[in-house]
Amino acid sequence: MCIFCKIINQEIPSYKIYEDEYTYAFLDISPLSQGHTLVVPKKHSEHVLEADSATITHCFNTIKKITHHYDNVLRSSGYNIISNVHPSSGQTVFHTHFHIVPRFTKNESLFDSLKEHSSEENIKMTFETIKIA
Ligand code: 5GP
Ligand code: ZN
Repeated sequence: MCIFCKIINQEIPSYKIYEDEYTYAFLDISPLSQGHTLVVPKKHSEHVLEADSATITHCFNTIKKITHHYDNVLRSSGYNIISNVHPSSGQTVFHTHFHIVPRFTKNESLFDSLKEHSSEENIKMTFETIKIA
């Protein structure tokens, strides 16, 4: 079973932000910005180009819910929504997923915020602030 299927099945712990019948969302273990979240469909496929359109729609419904929520609780002003396909693009986990990378200040470098937000303690703190009860 792949690592994200194990996270969905709670065999591997994660900071779960949201879950419904079709999707699961959790904080990235190595965030590019505060609140960096991964949205994954529960139905396994290797990458977004192999996922069926209903699955992609479910993911985007979840992405919309989460970004709307982050607008309020994180006060983020923008988002990079990214899905890498194949190793040459940077894909390292072969279960379809969308990155939600919250952005705060125009032109803020992702690498500047990286150090600030990537410690386990900061991930935990962010989680307590933004999880959907
Ligand atoms: P990719 O590079 O495939 O687009 O993204 C995979 C993402 O999954 C990376 O950003 C990586 O930090 C994250 N990741 C890999 N393993 C784990 C894990 O066990 N838990 C969590 N929460 N994130 C993971
Ligand atoms: Zn999987």
